[in-house]
Amino acid sequence: MEWCGIQVRLVSNITDIDDKIIDRANRENRPWNEITHKCEAVWFDAMNALGVMRPTDVPHATEYVEQMVEMIGELMSSDSAYATDDGVYLDISSVPDYGLLAHQNLEDMLSGGGDREVLGAAQKRHPADFALWKFSKPGEPSWPSPWGEGRPGWHSECVVMSLQLLGEGFDLHCGGADLRFPHHENERAQAVALGKTFAQHWMHNGFVVDTDGEKMSKSLGNVTNLVDLVQHYDPRAYRMLLLQTHYRSPVKVGQDNIDSSVKSLANLDGFADRMAKAELPAVSADTEVLAKFRELMDNDIDTPNAMAIIFDTVRRANIAIESGDTELCASLATAVHEMCNALGLMLRSGDDIDAVIVDRAQQLDAARVAKDFATADAIRIELQAAGYVVETTKAGTRVRRA
Ligand SMILES: [Zn+2]
Repeated sequence: MEWCGIQVRLVSNITDIDDKIIDRANRENRPWNEITHKCEAVWFDAMNALGVMRPTDVPHATEYVEQMVEMIGELMSSDSAYATDDGVYLDISSVPDYGLLAHQNLEDMLSGGGDREVLGAAQKRHPADFALWKFSKPGEPSWPSPWGEGRPGWHSECVVMSLQLLGEGFDLHCGGADLRFPHHENERAQAVALGKTFAQHWMHNGFVVDTDGEKMSKSLGNVTNLVDLVQHYDPRAYRMLLLQTHYRSPVKVGQDNIDSSVKSLANLDGFADRMAKAELPAVSADTEVLAKFRELMDNDIDTPNAMAIIFDTVRRANIAIESGDTELCASLATAVHEMCNALGLMLRSGDDIDAVIVDRAQQLDAARVAKDFATADAIRIELQAAGYVVETTKAGTRVRRA
């Protein structure tokens, strides 16, 4: 969007209080905010490694509790909400088009249902009514409210922060496909009940799954989560893998496509390196290529086909330089760089690796073949400490500067 000249204000909120956090704090006997600070730091480290830009605003739910209490008060005074023994609930019958986002009627949604814990079901007027405020048990973190000490419901956090920071009728609301219902539906329901316009457009992304379509777990050896993944592979390779799948589709992550991403990335880096050394004339990017790229990206962010344009342009630039057309080659190479930058995929040139390091990488492979995983791990850690990214592929260990 920024590449197209659109001014972007991205708000990405942090839920720093909920039932799961409180359960974990109790289980591990730690303060709840120590857990949330740690998780937030780990998250942004991984995002940095992937080249994900920092959002403009990162509001924390606990900083907006007063505003949430205020909003719930408005819903109470317009009779859209009611209190029970354990909290305050939204009466979804006060929201005429409830279910709009899920494209389902209420009865179907209830049979499908969400997987979040339903509190106080017995006293709810309608099974789909949801908690805006939950009264706290003794010893739990709590904030004051006119209805009793407690904490906000998850759905109330996002609606307050997004309306406060972005204003009514903001352009775009994103989130994982699993949040469409009930979370996003319920955020929207509160805005509707308040008589406010909520998001104009919604984008829901697919899950990361393994090659069998299951939630990613053990498909990559000892890699089970994002933190592991960005340690074992060049994070740009994972970014490329994501770009080669449409955001609405599930992303299948397995050894084969990680390996092929690592290889494709090496090809792109190799191309950038050759172009840097070719002393090409300074020309502007090929306009036809950029126009095609833009057209694809304008079509619901069609990154798989946009990546295909990049590979095709690399191929054409290679042909151009072989036939001595440096002018054409230069304009195509500039276009490749511009498209990669638009996708946040930074190419590297001149990655000449020291012979000693290459040697160590071969010893790592030898140790792995001999199933001496302790030695293999020790070498990997040593190389990482020396500032290298160590990638494990079927063809052996690849090393590149971090
Ligand atoms: Zn949310």
